[in-house]
Amino acid sequence: MARVPLGEAGQSVTPYPFILILGQDDNERIMGERLRDWGMSVQWNTELVRLEQAPDRVSATLAVGDGTSRKVTAAWVAGCDGARSSVRELNGITFAGAPYEHVFFVADTQVTGNMVPDEVNVYLWRQGFHLFFPMRGKDHWRVVGILPPTLRDRKDVSFDGVIPSLRGEAGPGLSFESCSWFSTYRIQHRSALHFRDRRCFLLGDAAHIHSPVGAQGMNTGLQDAYNLGWKLALVVQGRAAATLLDSYEQERMPIARRLLNTTDRAFRLVVSGGWLGGLLRTQVIARIAALAMSVERIQRLAFRIVSQTGIAYRQSPLSEPLEGLPPEAPRAGDRFPWLRLRFRVDGPVEDLFEKLDDTRLTLIVIGQPAPPEGALALGDPLCVLAIPAHPANDVELARAQIPRPSFYLLRPDGHVGLCGARLEAAPIARYASERLVLRSAATRNPS
Ligand SMILES: Cc1cc2nc3c(=O)[nH]c(=O)nc-3n(C[C@H](O)[C@H](O)[C@H](O)COP(=O)(O)OP(=O)(O)OC[C@H]3O[C@@H](n4cnc5c(N)ncnc54)[C@H](O)[C@@H]3O)c2cc1C
Repeated sequence: MARVPLGEAGQSVTPYPFILILGQDDNERIMGERLRDWGMSVQWNTELVRLEQAPDRVSATLAVGDGTSRKVTAAWVAGCDGARSSVRELNGITFAGAPYEHVFFVADTQVTGNMVPDEVNVYLWRQGFHLFFPMRGKDHWRVVGILPPTLRDRKDVSFDGVIPSLRGEAGPGLSFESCSWFSTYRIQHRSALHFRDRRCFLLGDAAHIHSPVGAQGMNTGLQDAYNLGWKLALVVQGRAAATLLDSYEQERMPIARRLLNTTDRAFRLVVSGGWLGGLLRTQVIARIAALAMSVERIQRLAFRIVSQTGIAYRQSPLSEPLEGLPPEAPRAGDRFPWLRLRFRVDGPVEDLFEKLDDTRLTLIVIGQPAPPEGALALGDPLCVLAIPAHPANDVELARAQIPRPSFYLLRPDGHVGLCGARLEAAPIARYASERLVLRSAATRNPS
C-alpha cells in the first residue's frame, strides 16, 4: 500500500542514515569481542543472588554454574540484567507498569513470498500486524506479530499454528521452508521508579521496558550505558566527584518515560480492536504515514525519533547555555551535529565524529582564536578543535546553523555541555568545577 522511506532524511544527520537489521545474537557477539579486546570477558553461568550496599562499596554474591558461590566487592554496580533485573529487585526498586493483554510471537524462518527484499515489511491487517525483518542469508526472515485472539490462551502454540493467519493476511503466496526458532511472549510497559540506589544503577530493560513497536528498546539501553559510562569513568578515576553520577537518572529517566508513552500510544493504535481499529490498520495508517513522510519536515522529525539522534538533555543540570547564540543554533544538551570540516585550511575534509574522543571533553572553537594549551586548566580530559575560516567550512557551519564566533564544549558522549559566543576561560572553569564537578590533579581520589 505504501513505502515509507526513513533514511533519506538522515543523510545530513549521521554517516549511518539507514535501519541496520542486526540480530541480537550478532550484536552480543560484536560487543563480546570488543570486551575481549580490552582484556575482559563475559562470565557466563554466573548469577547475582545477593547485594549488600555499604557507604563506600557494594558486596555482591554470585552463584556460579558448578553450584558454588563467590563474593565480589565493587565500588559501583551497573545493573544491565534485563526486565527481571536482580539488581533492581535486590534494591527493592518498584517497576511500575502493567502487561499488555496481547501475546507476541517471534519466528526465525526461511520463507519466500511477496516481501520487498532488504526492507522491513509491515503488514497491517484487520486483527493486528506482522513485521517481516530481512536477516543475514538467503530468504531468511524474522517474523514478529501478535497471536490471533483464538490462540492467545493456548500453551501449545507452534509456528504451524500461526501460518494460516500469516497466509491470510501477508499473502497466500508465502511459502515457508523451515522455522528454526519460534517463541511467544507477553510484553509489558514498565519503568523503574529510580534508575539508581546509592552505588547501584539500572540500565536498559532493567530500568524500562515497552512494546517492541518502534524498535527502540536495545538502542535506548545502549544509550543509557553511553550516558553512564563516561561519568562513571571520570568518577572511578577520581577526576570528578561522585555527584556527577546524579545526572544519569536526571537525564535518562525523562527519555525512558517519553519512550514508554509514545510506544504505548503507537502499540495501542496498531492493536486497537473493533471495526474502527481494523479500518485504521487496513486503510488509513499506511497511507497517512506515506503521505506524512512526503513532507520533508516530518521526514526529518521521524528520522530523528527513530534513530534517537534527536535526543537532547536541555533540562539537565549538566547543560548550560551562555548568552550570545541565536535561538536556531545547537543548544546546550543537544547532540552536537555531524559535520564534515577542514581542520587545517590546506587539509582534507574530515568527519568531525571521527575526531571526537569518547573518553574526553572536546572544545570546538569557531571564528575566534583557540585558547593556548593549558590555559583552561581543565586537566587532561580536554581536546581542543579549532575550526579555521574556509568557504567549505562556512557552508557546513551554516547548514548546522552554527554562528561565528561561537564555541561548544562537548561531553564525551557528544552532547553539548556548555556553549556560547565568546570563549572565555572563567565560565569554562566554573562549568567544569560546578557542573561536571571535575577535580584538579591535586585533589584526585579514585573510587
Ligand atoms: C521481538 C523483539 C524485538 C525487538 N526488536 C528491537 C529492535 O529492533 N531494536 C531495539 O533497539 N530493540 C528491540 N527489542 C528490545 C531489545 O531486545 C531489548 O531492549 C534489549 O535486549 C535489552 O537489553 P538488556 O541488555 O537491557 O537486557 P537483556 O537483553 O534482557 O540482557 C540481560 C542479561 O542479564 C542476564 N541476567 C539476568 N539476571 C541476572 C542475574 N541475576 N545475574 C546475572 N545475569 C543476569 C540475562 O541472562 C541476560 O543475559 C526487541 C525486543 C523483542 C522482544
